Amino acid sequence: MIPVSNPLISQTELDYVSDAVRSGWVSSLGAYIDAFETRFAAYCGTKYALTVSNGTVGLHLALVALGVRSGDEVIVPDLTFVATANAVRMAQAEPVMVDVCRDTYCIDPEQVVRAITSRTKAILPVHLYGHPADMTALREIAQAHKLHLIEDAAEAHGAFMHGNRTGAMGDCGVFSFYGNKIITSGEGGMITTDDPVLFQRLKYLRDHAMSKEIRYWHTEVGYNYRMTNIQAALGLAQLEKIDQFIARRATLLEQYRTLLAPHGVECNPAALGAQPVNWMTCAVVEGLGREQRDKVIALMREQGVDSRPFFFPVSSLPMYRGASNPVSQLLSDNGFNLPTYVDLTSEQVSQICTTFMQALDSVR
Ligand SMILES: *Cc1c(COP(=O)(O)O)cnc(C)c1O
Repeated sequence: MIPVSNPLISQTELDYVSDAVRSGWVSSLGAYIDAFETRFAAYCGTKYALTVSNGTVGLHLALVALGVRSGDEVIVPDLTFVATANAVRMAQAEPVMVDVCRDTYCIDPEQVVRAITSRTKAILPVHLYGHPADMTALREIAQAHKLHLIEDAAEAHGAFMHGNRTGAMGDCGVFSFYGNKIITSGEGGMITTDDPVLFQRLKYLRDHAMSKEIRYWHTEVGYNYRMTNIQAALGLAQLEKIDQFIARRATLLEQYRTLLAPHGVECNPAALGAQPVNWMTCAVVEGLGREQRDKVIALMREQGVDSRPFFFPVSSLPMYRGASNPVSQLLSDNGFNLPTYVDLTSEQVSQICTTFMQALDSVR
């Protein structure tokens, strides 16, 4: 079976992890935590980076640290992984789902403007499937309406928009290092920011909100959202290879595009000014529909190729039920994610495309 995703773990990862374990620094203090944070900040071009337990709590922590609370609204794209919206609810606020752009799969700035109310506190764009959102437009909107801007960069480590890295274009950026992301630490996440006050607040809330002056004195409810030194060792070894990983993923996408475009299959978008990363190869077949799409996935699985449907729109999920957004719905109904990982071979990509086209032909 060709999986959809598979992390590449090599000797450096094993060396760093065993060094971390042997050092005795197995919890959240240690040299690998410091090195991972320092190098990740340098990579993104931000002043600070803070390790957290995973991307979801990273989003929650960012929202709380920026003062989002009960009664507030946070604007999110309708097409995203559910954690984006869940983090807003975890902060007792309400996610407001708006549609995405057809040509980037990311939040539509014009729809954002229309969704702003007196309760809106923040905009939480997602760089979906590795394509950066239109941060220039979103930054202007955020400034004009005095809103916070948090990047959900969980799927887009290393992507650029107009020369800026993801994670460096909002008040802060949140990354995930889950096993299927661009780089992994097993579970894990990182928050990047240029703002020293926000950074201190994030760190304080992450570490039980303990007073700096008086040990075990707490004046508000904090969290334990820390990463372990062992996870950071794995993450650091992966970070050292991120450029190779991203380059290989781009090569895979080019091969997919070459093989699928002649058959009218749309692959990952690339807007003007954007330099996306290929987190997951996307294949959109307009007019196919959810039922046929799911049949194709089942047929491919029978042939030993795993694939994924696009996310459901958040507004279609029972706990968020809201008005449907046409572009999010269209992409969700017709989108596939095809296997994308560093040691996938070009022979396998050919095999996947053949299997995909055969399955498509047999349902159409
Ligand atoms: C993976 C992901 C998250 C959550 O990250 P975890 O580390 O799995 O908690 C959040 N948002 C998006 C868009 C994601 O893809």
